[in-house]
Amino acid sequence: MEASFSWNCRYANKSGFPCQLTARAEDSKTILERIAGIEQWLVASGATPAGPEAPASIAPVVAPSTPAEPEHPAGWCTVHDTQMQMHEKNGTSWYSHQVDEGWCRGKPNGKK
Ligand SMILES: [Zn+2]
Repeated sequence: MEASFSWNCRYANKSGFPCQLTARAEDSKTILERIAGIEQWLVASGATPAGPEAPASIAPVVAPSTPAEPEHPAGWCTVHDTQMQMHEKNGTSWYSHQVDEGWCRGKPNGKK
């Protein structure tokens, strides 16, 4: 015998996946009882309701950022791989360290 009542329910399960349930019954009393039972089960299972027009609210997957280079402390000279000294003059400060040619400020193309 063909069901005369059907009920569709869209919901997101506990993990956030969109799901759909369909209940069918031959009379309104039975379908209402089934709907109530399904709703209780959905709530108990951690599902959240989703309307017919509800967009999928899936957060974009953000790839963990992997730094290209290991982080160095402030004032680290990546050219010579050494810790520079901080200097202060006239309210400004900079890092530099002494090399054979003079002072290095930790920049490959800096003045020598
Ligand atoms: Zn250097």
